[in-house]
Amino acid sequence: MTHAPLIGLEIHVQLKTRTKLFCGDVVAFDAAPNTNICPVCLGLPGALPMPNRAAIELALRAAIALGCELHMESSFTRKNYFYPDLPKGYQITQYEAPLATGGSLDDSHIRRVHVEEDAGKLLHDRLAGRTAIDMNRAGVPLLEIVTEPDLHTPAQARAFLVQLKRLLQYLGVSDCEMEKGSLRVDANVSLGGTPTEIKNMNSFAGLERALHAEIARQQALAAVNRPIVAETLAWNDVTGELRVLRIKEQREQYRYMVEPDLPPLRLEPAWIDAIAAGLPVLPRQRAAQLKQSYGLRAQDAAVLSASRALADYFEGVVALTGDARAAASWIMRDVLATANALQTEFAVSAPRLAELIGLVARGELSSVAARSVFRRMCESDATAAQIVASEQLAPFDDSAQATVWAEEILRNHPRELARYRAGEARILEFFVGQLLRMSNGRMDPRKAREIMTRTAQAR
Ligand code: MN
Repeated sequence: MTHAPLIGLEIHVQLKTRTKLFCGDVVAFDAAPNTNICPVCLGLPGALPMPNRAAIELALRAAIALGCELHMESSFTRKNYFYPDLPKGYQITQYEAPLATGGSLDDSHIRRVHVEEDAGKLLHDRLAGRTAIDMNRAGVPLLEIVTEPDLHTPAQARAFLVQLKRLLQYLGVSDCEMEKGSLRVDANVSLGGTPTEIKNMNSFAGLERALHAEIARQQALAAVNRPIVAETLAWNDVTGELRVLRIKEQREQYRYMVEPDLPPLRLEPAWIDAIAAGLPVLPRQRAAQLKQSYGLRAQDAAVLSASRALADYFEGVVALTGDARAAASWIMRDVLATANALQTEFAVSAPRLAELIGLVARGELSSVAARSVFRRMCESDATAAQIVASEQLAPFDDSAQATVWAEEILRNHPRELARYRAGEARILEFFVGQLLRMSNGRMDPRKAREIMTRTAQAR
C-alpha cells in the first residue's frame, strides 16, 4: 500500500527589475549575447557585489502578500558547483537564513522565500556543432518560492501555480512568462517515502503531465516492491517521458558557505511598513469586489479578475455603459476570445466596446450584427457607428420588404408550410431563421417572428 502522492513545488521567478541583483548591468531579455556583463556578474577577482534595493523590495512584496514571516536579518550564501553557465563556480543565494519563511496561498503552505542570482545561459543553436555561452542572464535577480509538499494531485499543483502566477503578476513582482523563462518550476514527488525531483517542465500542461507520469512510475515501482531512488528527472514534453538526469545532489555537495563579500541583509521596519501599505488589491479581493459591486457570479468574477488589466478594462466598460451584465458577457465571450487575458492592451478599447454596447442597448444594432461589428473593430480603428454605417448594418425595419421575403420563403418551402398548417407550430422557428438570414441578421427577431406568423397565417 502506498501513500497518496505528496507534491511540493520549487518555483523560480525573475524579479522585474531594471538592473541585476548585485551590479548595475541592465536586465534585457533579447540583448545581443554577452553585452550586459561586468566583473561582478562574471565573478572576476576583486569585484564586489552590492545588493539591488529594488530587487529586495519586490521580493518583500511577494513575501508580504503570501503572508510569510519576514526575517529582519537574512544572509547571503555561496552555493558551490561547477557548470559551464556558471564559470565563477558558485551562485549567490540564501540558504540558512532566508528572507522569509512560512506563509500560504489558498490552502497550500509556503516553506520559504528567498532571493538569489540567476546563472548564464547555454545556447545550443547559434554555432553549428558547438555550444555558446551567453552571460547576460548571470546575476539577474530571482525569487525562489518553495512550497511544503502538501499538494496531492497534479491538478492541484497546476492550480496552485496558476494562482501564484496571477498573484505575482498583480503585485508587479514578475512577468511570470514561462516561455521566456521568467517563471520556472521544479517539483518533488513522493508516495510518502523517498521523493524524486522533476525538472524541465515548460508549461502548466507540462507540469501536470509530468506529475501524472512520475506518480504512475512510482506506483508501478511500489507495486513490485522496487525501491524509489532519490533521483533528479528531466521531463520531455514532446515524448511525454521522464529521463534520469542524475542522482539527486546532497546538500553537503554544495559546500554552502556564508558569502564573504556581503554583510547580513538587515531590513528597516519602516521600509517594510511602506511596502505593505503600497500593496495593490490582490486577485481574491478584486474578484470579491467585482462580485459584490456588480452582482456577478463568482465564476465570472474570477475570470474577469484574472489580471489587473482585465479587471480595469471591465470596470472601464461598466463605467461608460452602466451595464455590468452586458460588459461581462461581451468581454468573456468576445474580447477574451481575441486576446490573452493578461495583456494590458485589448484589441477593442473600453470606450469603443462601450459604444458598441450602447448601440445594441438603444436598438440601433441587432445583437447578431453587433458581433460581426465587433470582429471588424478588432481589425481596424473604426468606431462601431462608422462600421454600422459603412456596412449598412443598421436594423432592418422595412416591413413591406420583410413581408415580400416572408412570402418568398413560404413559396420555396411548400412541404414545411403544409406541416405548419397541419399544426406543427415549431416549424415557424425555421421560417423565422430564414427571414433573419435574408436580412443579414439585421432584423429584430421579435419583429421577424411577427411578420412570419402573419404571412403564414394569411396563406
Ligand atoms: Mn534556486
